[in-house]
Amino acid sequence: MEQLRGEMVARDLAGRDIYDQQVLAAFQRVERHRFVPEEFLNHAYDDRPLPIGGGQTISQPYIVALMTQCLRLNGEERILEVGTGSGYQTAILAELAWEVYTIERIASLSERAQKTLAELGYANFHVFVGDGSQGLPQHAPFDRIIVTAAAPQPPAPLIEQLTVGGIMVVPTGSRVGQDLEVITKNRDGFTTATACRCTFVPLIGEHGYEK
Ligand code: SAH
Repeated sequence: MEQLRGEMVARDLAGRDIYDQQVLAAFQRVERHRFVPEEFLNHAYDDRPLPIGGGQTISQPYIVALMTQCLRLNGEERILEVGTGSGYQTAILAELAWEVYTIERIASLSERAQKTLAELGYANFHVFVGDGSQGLPQHAPFDRIIVTAAAPQPPAPLIEQLTVGGIMVVPTGSRVGQDLEVITKNRDGFTTATACRCTFVPLIGEHGYEK
């Protein structure tokens, strides 16, 4: 598995435009196969999303890496992740930041992710079940916010819960295709850049899509 992981990092991440050495090292350390259902184990190091139950997916490694790289982490950040899913992205963030708050709307996925992360020895994460499109006002503000499901537009509460100078990555667009947007908050508002086209499962909630 470790060799397959090394090949995935070299071929699908470093071989493309993932240049942040800390991000590459985190992908080398985190065992993606621990977050993948038994029946897909032999695909754990393919660069593709895989089903994790409840109609949801563990995202493609390249996209997880690109989103992480866009966050420009230095190890001191408090991060909000919307869409825990398998917990794989949570583990990558826990490796690279100070503290990760992660929220998932499907309780069974949240429970499984929490178990996997604890088994792997992570202690700097907090899981929540609920509608993450509203953020986590009681724990705001956050230095970084990452949304791992597609929204019609950047959810307003999330921009509000970002620190000045903070960065949010969020796929925005239609249900079938989105732009990965990188939003940087400043004193007067925010600026937006587009990293790539992507396809995520929908963000279901108050500031997302209807079920
Ligand atoms: N980061 C995850 C990706 C999971 S897919 C991983 O690497 O495994 C996106 C997840 O967002 C799904 O689990 C879905 O249930 C969840 N989701 C969708 N809408 C949500 C919302 N409003 N609040 C929290 N989670 C949501």
